[in-house]
This record gives sequence, structure tokens and C-alpha cells, in this order.
Amino acid sequence: NKFKLKNFKLYGITNNDKSINIIHQKGENCCDVAETIECRAYRTSHEINSIKFPHICQEHRCEKYNYICIPFSTGGTFTGILSINFSKEEYEENKDEIPYIESYLNESASIIEAKSTLHLMKQSSLTDQLTGLYNRRYLEEILEKIAASTLRENSMLGVLMIDVDYFKKVNDTYGHDAGDMVLKQLSHVLTANVRESDFVVRFGGEEFIILLVDIRKDEAIKVAEKLCQIVEKTKFETKAGILRKTISIGVAEFPVDSERIWQVIKFADVALYKAKQEGRDRAVRF
Ligand code: GH3
Ligand code: MG
Ligand code: MG
Repeated sequence: NKFKLKNFKLYGITNNDKSINIIHQKGENCCDVAETIECRAYRTSHEINSIKFPHICQEHRCEKYNYICIPFSTGGTFTGILSINFSKEEYEENKDEIPYIESYLNESASIIEAKSTLHLMKQSSLTDQLTGLYNRRYLEEILEKIAASTLRENSMLGVLMIDVDYFKKVNDTYGHDAGDMVLKQLSHVLTANVRESDFVVRFGGEEFIILLVDIRKDEAIKVAEKLCQIVEKTKFETKAGILRKTISIGVAEFPVDSERIWQVIKFADVALYKAKQEGRDRAVRF
């Protein structure tokens, strides 16, 4: 975000067992490295730059982009590699920034390491088994922090409380497995249709909360309406055949509706109740 990079992968490498994993990625990136031994930036501890040396890396699997891979480390247990993909024009625009990116990474290496370790540890307890989404515990853990940073940045948070319409019918008619498959696919649909920086949480059985980060006023309801329309058109594939489902969404905004974030969640729930009462398959603004 800081450097407005469009296409990158950020890798974390644990030096003792040389395991490599993706900490974060954004946009398109053609690096396909799977083992540390294949990573030239890691082996040489130097920046790899395809503008200066075309085709220097075998693990970059497309012609479309140039790449710069920057290694950085805490000097001990952890090495990070940032692989950035650029078009030619983007490179010209951004090349002066590269040294700043490099020092930024080195400054933040220990924080990235700590966060990455914490993330791996917590991932299992804070995500939902069935859908892979964040669970309620995760929401409880991060909500106050997200609220605080929203206030600090003078920004706004959209809260969507989502509930599947007549979901019980799916279970009763087609069985619990079919219900599970619908929930799984719905999670994909929801995640695919909001921004990568947004938080999609499985709040309970067939209830989801989405936090729309850094949203403009009155935009949340539009996102919610779009989601309703997309879900309406989705063909859910189950063993019992293709099913159609709809969702209802309650929408509230922080800090517009209240400066207490849990209150805003409550308001979104009130709006959801209204959406159900008004006939379902719709979004209602609190
Ligand atoms: P509406 O929300 O439109 O009022 O109707 P509904 O039928 O969706 O209402 P309700 O909230 O009563 O039903 C939710 C159902 O979701 C009940 C529960 O059996 C089912 N459910 C909850 N979690 C899961 C799950 O993980 N898998 C499956 N298959 N079903 C689940
Ligand atoms: Mg429900
Ligand atoms: Mg329901």
C-alpha cells in the first residue's frame, strides 16, 4: 500500500529448515518458486532484476512482466523475498523508489517475521474449517484494532451482516452435505466480490460478516446490493444437483452510525432483521 505496488508476492523463508511460504500477494505475479534452492535472490542475497539481466530467473513463468526480487532479512532466523512484477512503463515510473522499498523492507524485517510466525500459529484457531474464512474469534480479536485505525485514518468502515435465506430448507431437503457445499461456494463468491483488503468472516452457521475497509459514505449498501444480485445468479453445485439461493444483508457504517464498533455490528443485525421482514433477497441500510 505504501509504495502502491500492483503485482507482488512477499515470501517468508525460515532459515533453519529453508521452508518458503507466501506471506502476502497482490495482483498478478509470475514467480512460481517452490523451494529456496530455486530462488536466486535467496541464494545470492542480492537483488535480481530482469531489466538489467533479462531471463535471469528460471522461476519467473511469463513474458508479460519484468521482475525485481529483493531479499531482506533479520540477520538470523528469517529471510524475506519481495518479488515485484512490472510492465516496462511501470518500471520507469517506479525505479527510483526501489532503494526506498529496499530499506523499508529491511527496517520492517523483524516485524514481518514476528507477524508471519504469529499468523502461522494462529491461522488454525482463527479460521473456520469448512470455508477457510476467518471465524468469530478472529473478528473479536481484530475488530477494536480495525475500528481504531479507521478512526485514526479518518476513514470509514462498512459492516455487512449476511444471512442465507431459508437455509434450513437446503439441509432438510437435500441433506447437510449439500448445505455444507452451498456454504463453501458462498464463501468463495463473497470473497471474490469484495476487495482483497476487506475481511470476510463466518460469524455463525450460515451468517457472515464482511468488513469493508476504507469505504466512502453510502458505498456499503451498493456493495451489499451487488452481492445479493451475484448470489441470486450463482449456481451452487451440490451432489443433489444445482441449487439457487438468496441472501439478505443488513448494512451499517462505522463511525457514521455509532463510534462504538460493536454497536455498529448490532445495527447491521437490526437492518438484517428488517431485510428478512421485508421479504428477503435484499440489502437494507440501518
Ligand atoms: P431465514 O434466515 O431466511 O429466516 O431462514 P433460515 O432457514 O436460514 O433460518 P435459520 O437461521 O433458522 O436456519 C439456519 C440453518 O442453518 C439452521 C442450521 O441447521 C443450518 N446450519 C448452520 N450451520 C450449518 C453448517 O455448518 N452446515 C449446514 N449444512 N447447515 C448449517
Ligand atoms: Mg441464521
Ligand atoms: Mg438464514
